[in-house]
Amino acid sequence: MTSLTFAVLAAGSGSRLGGQAKQLRLLSGRPLWQWSIDKACQWSHLRDEPLNIILVVPPVGLESYTKEAKKLFPDVTICTGGASRTESALAAAKRSDSDFIMLHDGARPFLSLDICASIWQQRHSHRAVIPVLPATDAVKRQQGSQWTALPRDELFLTQTPQLFPRQALVDLLSSLSQSEFEMMKDEAELWIARGKELVTVAGSEENYKITGPSDWERAVTTTRPKNYRSGMGYDVHPLAPHRPLVLGGVQIPSPLGLLGHSDADILSHVAADALLSAASLPDIGTLWPASDEQWKGCRSLELLKESARLVRHKGWIIQSLSVVLTAQTPRLSSWHQEIVQSINDALNAPVCSLTFKSGETIPPVGTAQAMAAWAVALIAGA
Ligand code: MG
Repeated sequence: MTSLTFAVLAAGSGSRLGGQAKQLRLLSGRPLWQWSIDKACQWSHLRDEPLNIILVVPPVGLESYTKEAKKLFPDVTICTGGASRTESALAAAKRSDSDFIMLHDGARPFLSLDICASIWQQRHSHRAVIPVLPATDAVKRQQGSQWTALPRDELFLTQTPQLFPRQALVDLLSSLSQSEFEMMKDEAELWIARGKELVTVAGSEENYKITGPSDWERAVTTTRPKNYRSGMGYDVHPLAPHRPLVLGGVQIPSPLGLLGHSDADILSHVAADALLSAASLPDIGTLWPASDEQWKGCRSLELLKESARLVRHKGWIIQSLSVVLTAQTPRLSSWHQEIVQSINDALNAPVCSLTFKSGETIPPVGTAQAMAAWAVALIAGA
């Protein structure tokens, strides 16, 4: 098997957009850096051999971003970049031990898996593969006061990801001086300058780079949700002595706990089912059957996390999650905030609202024989 590292270069300052660091800007609910990582994870799932994914972050100043990335993508390697793009590329290539490395601009959120696959098809131990777009406008060059028309048919615009045999790229970039580092627009530039073999594949108009405010506006317009779906979850569990009471991942001291195959966390169950239903995915009982011994006593909050990940993988953004719990005992109001926080953390989005109702002495909830819960989720897609 030939191994591949997919590195997302997101260590730049993005100064041309102004304001907040570019990679932290939220595009349809996701920070810009996350779009490429999500796409790489998607590709990794589809491949026979998973990708090694590296996210290159700035050396200083954006520690919260690094922390968030580690939390969201525990399998992604976080690597510190340099002052220039090329230094970041070298840092990623040195960190990897794969045969090949694909370098992708973190500011190109609309990467398609088709481009990745056609690049990968062209791999060879001696050549680089890059996506290009033919120049469609007439092109002129200005040198002082002199203007020259350039033959458009010979001109191409370069995109990313760019594929290189990794060790050859490390050797090449390691030979650069500091001033050469700063001048380099992309790694393919150096590759061809040294007379090495380059192959191109067709890029795509959608795979544009967000550089200035008009690119950002275009990205916001294309990602504005056009499609909303809702889903509902319902669950009931009997109350029994000598059982833990876990609600939304929070363990609550109580003489009675919920009975079930897992930790019987009824709130995680309804939340997960509501999300899965909205995205037309199988319910939790189908994904993680009670008949399967490996889920015995499992922490249901982990199943909620996984459900949210599956929903996001289908391209949905979680907009809201409204949960109602009916319980007679114990008194839960003092736990409200902690439970909401725990569910929001599992979803990685501040979307949960939670209502407690008593059972009004009506069986089985009102007679403390059971708890019942409902949840409604709203998700949005492009
Ligand atoms: Mg249940």
